[in-house]
Amino acid sequence: MTPENRKAHIGKKLKKAGFKITPQRTAIMEYLMTSREHPSAETIYKELRKVYPSLSRNTVYEALESFERQRLVFDIIDRDGIRRYDAHTEPHIHLICLECGEIIDVPYDDRRILSKVKNQFIPEKSVFYIYGRCKNEKEAK
Ligand code: MN
Repeated sequence: MTPENRKAHIGKKLKKAGFKITPQRTAIMEYLMTSREHPSAETIYKELRKVYPSLSRNTVYEALESFERQRLVFDIIDRDGIRRYDAHTEPHIHLICLECGEIIDVPYDDRRILSKVKNQFIPEKSVFYIYGRCKNEKEAK
């Protein structure tokens, strides 16, 4: 997706969810969509501040909370209890390393479970966690 296409896509997404499209909201969503790091509000604020010096911390926090309420993004809690955000809302599993804190995405594609869930439930938010130790940590020891 080119940056222009992505911006147009984000614009549609925000509009559909009832948001007024602002450059800041678009930038926050774009940051999340192009990251697999599951950034915290603070990280997003610090990074986007470099491009938008007038951006306020409050704007970032408010945008993220309202995106989350509209399920445009999901919040996940990291190893240290810090709230982080994920714009990749298709079902996937988060491997959380208890040593280094890294969060690794793994696709979740068990169709049997997914279809059973859909038979009796309308899922709005699917966040899965597996806690453990990543290979890097293991091999370093
Ligand atoms: Mn994720």
